[in-house]
Amino acid sequence: MVWLKRVGIALLILIVLAITGAGIFAYKAKNGFARYETTPHDIDLPGNMPSVLLFSKTTAFRHSTAIKASIPAFERLANENGWFLYHTEDAGIINQDQLKEFDVIIWNNSTGPVLTKDQRLLVQGYINDGGGFIGIHGAGDDSHKWPWYIQHVIGARFSHHPIKDQIQEANIQLHPSVDSSWNQLSAQWNHSDEWYIFYDHPSIKGMNIMYSIDGTTINPNGNLLWVTDKDFGMGEDHPVAWYNQVGAGRIFYTSMGHTAGTFDNPDFLQMLKSAVQWTGGLE
Ligand SMILES: [Zn+2]
Repeated sequence: MVWLKRVGIALLILIVLAITGAGIFAYKAKNGFARYETTPHDIDLPGNMPSVLLFSKTTAFRHSTAIKASIPAFERLANENGWFLYHTEDAGIINQDQLKEFDVIIWNNSTGPVLTKDQRLLVQGYINDGGGFIGIHGAGDDSHKWPWYIQHVIGARFSHHPIKDQIQEANIQLHPSVDSSWNQLSAQWNHSDEWYIFYDHPSIKGMNIMYSIDGTTINPNGNLLWVTDKDFGMGEDHPVAWYNQVGAGRIFYTSMGHTAGTFDNPDFLQMLKSAVQWTGGLE
């Protein structure tokens, strides 16, 4: 009955492969297949006001509710502050002529590889030449497969987020060293979010910490059960927002922004407003 055993094993392997394949397909169908757009957009940017590109394209995990909530929040900020806001998930806007028209580009929970090689080089040149960049939450995860971006723009390598509990409340504290050019930032607030754990403290790469939480007040344990200490280099001073100069450009990243409610929080929105003003050189 050896043949029966072999047929059984072969069937088992086929079933496992089919389930894995179906799982990958379902994940991709939900979050986005790899796709690239290269056609320039049919828009005219007003020359008389700062222009902000809100880019929410995803080809990996999609924060659907957060992205949905962020758009009206950014529209309100733009109206209140006299910015032209252009929201898209189509990377065709990243082209030689149109990218440089923006004062600030925002990777709004954008995950996965979303740009062609040429578009990546354009973004790299844009930042080095003085463009502003803001990354929100998923913009700093490990799905982008873009070493320059993780090394220079995010400045820390994502490990995981807590699983139990995924959303935890913490107290956000303004770092005492924050540059005085950042005005009107809240000194502290309580906030519930999915706290990202990075392998290294972003200050190692020269990032200036804006906000931290006390890492000992959250349970950082992620999905690898056999690793018990899961906060790596983050520890007690656990940064959740930082900024830096890259070439002539200014960058800002916050690991907050998993939940839709984050985009109703006035302290968070004040931080984003200041981030646009600082990275865009608008202050
Ligand atoms: Zn998240």
